[in-house]
Amino acid sequence: MKTLQKAVANGAEIRSQSVASKILYDEKTGDVTGIMYKEYRTSESGELIYEEKVVSAKRYLLAAHAVENAKLLLASGCQTKISVRI
Ligand SMILES: Cc1cc2nc3c(=O)[nH]c(=O)nc-3n(C[C@H](O)[C@H](O)[C@H](O)COP(=O)(O)OP(=O)(O)OC[C@H]3O[C@@H](n4cnc5c(N)ncnc54)[C@H](O)[C@@H]3O)c2cc1C
Repeated sequence: MKTLQKAVANGAEIRSQSVASKILYDEKTGDVTGIMYKEYRTSESGELIYEEKVVSAKRYLLAAHAVENAKLLLASGCQTKISVRI
């Protein structure tokens, strides 16, 4: 919790109810250009709905645990194309 508070104080924005669904990247350079995500909410009729959004940044850090990171990379079709630094 302290880490999150510190991150927010330094400009981080926490987007709750949001699930990353695709890594967008430039086919030529392999650079990541954005992360597509689904922002979930409950409609007035009680139905769970989502809106698809894209967030862009200077740098991207995948931290969805080992399995989800791999799943996201594979689901985005970028297993050999994007430049990943570990
Ligand atoms: C029972 C148990 C006990 C443990 N005890 C210890 C211990 O004593 N010491 C130790 O060092 N380690 C321990 N570990 C291991 C430790 O918890 C993990 O190694 C560590 O949490 C991994 O951190 P992470 O940030 O990679 O992933 P996580 O902590 O799993 O964080 C990943 C986050 O990404 C989110 N996420 C996943 N997919 C998406 C998506 N598509 N879009 C957006 N968000 C997403 C998840 O909701 C989650 O909040 C333990 C693990 C377990 C299960």
